[in-house]
Amino acid sequence: MTDCIFCKIINGEIPSAKVYEDDLVYAFLDISQTTPGHTLLVPKEHVQDIFDYSPTLAGDVLSRLPKIAKGLDKAFPDMLGLNILNNNREAAYQTVFHSHWHLIPRYGEKDGFGLTFTNHMDDVSKEQLASLADQITQGISEVTE
Ligand code: 5GP
Ligand code: ZN
Repeated sequence: MTDCIFCKIINGEIPSAKVYEDDLVYAFLDISQTTPGHTLLVPKEHVQDIFDYSPTLAGDVLSRLPKIAKGLDKAFPDMLGLNILNNNREAAYQTVFHSHWHLIPRYGEKDGFGLTFTNHMDDVSKEQLASLADQITQGISEVTE
């Protein structure tokens, strides 16, 4: 795609700190370096977000995640953990609309990255959970690939 910053990075039109490349994916350092080693893994094919993935593309991209994750773990002996994050659409904080997977090495609670999961366990009944599960199962049954 001509006007996509990540396509330009993949094509070498914009410089990047590349850490891995093969015929299907490209991985490079996120310019923001939320934590040291913050890396982005992207499919070379321009897809906007997860809703554009075929099962084959998902396999191609996700199968590379363990390699990059293990590489980070080896590269940074002080790394305590790793968050892998994929934002889809603006409401979910996506700002670059060429799908990408963040790998964010973690070095401790105050390392610059935070994530909050609010616990609504006490507010949701078993019936509501069953109804939500039915709704999602129905949605999945309507997916064609
Ligand atoms: P999103 O918010 O869409 O999940 O993440 C987009 C990420 O792309 C951000 O973390 C941002 O720092 C990174 N980014 C945006 N422009 C560039 C760029 O030109 N080069 C690199 N290396 N990263 C970028
Ligand atoms: Zn693109």
